[in-house]
Amino acid sequence: MKAPKRKLKVLISEEQLQQRCRELAAQINEDFAGDSVHIIGVLKGSFMFLSDLVKHLTIDVSIDFLGLSSYGTSQETSGVVRMTSDLALPIKGRNVIIVEDIIDTGLTMKYLLENLRTRMPADIKVCTLLSKPANTREDVPLDYVGFTIGDEFVIGYGLDDAEFSRNIPYIGVVDLEDED
Ligand code: 5GP
Repeated sequence: MKAPKRKLKVLISEEQLQQRCRELAAQINEDFAGDSVHIIGVLKGSFMFLSDLVKHLTIDVSIDFLGLSSYGTSQETSGVVRMTSDLALPIKGRNVIIVEDIIDTGLTMKYLLENLRTRMPADIKVCTLLSKPANTREDVPLDYVGFTIGDEFVIGYGLDDAEFSRNIPYIGVVDLEDED
């Protein structure tokens, strides 16, 4: 299989991403000083952001993952969220921080918050690398936001382009003017 051929513009550079990870981690360290947090990464898009973020956490941290899918392979949300893999660990009584790549319509996060709240954590916070407020349909509380971006389809740093390009080390935006 071949990756789509795209002309990409750098929207958020590697340096900006690393700096923001340090800042978000510092905020989390302060908010949970003397306590522990249970980080839940939403696969697959959050894997790179999560690994950079947790390197800077100095509080006690445990980590788990779950898989959600709402996009299939297109750039439009299907609106139907599916859990592709569940957590390995219980979250009852834990301070949970969900780590997500991007909040677009908010449908995925609404589904996830409703699901996780039934498992009785002590607290749930949401940490997202990117937020696209122009598209948001569901009002979900965002506690930690890396960057607010416009209504554009971004790829790289964990975010995919039809399952490719997750390995690009920066956030890029497809330059539609240069598309064939
Ligand atoms: P929502 O349910 O908030 O509409 O969408 C959340 C999910 O859609 C994200 O976790 C991500 O997988 C995908 N998504 C939304 N916007 C983008 C985008 O600009 N680029 C990529 N690659 N995925 C996106």
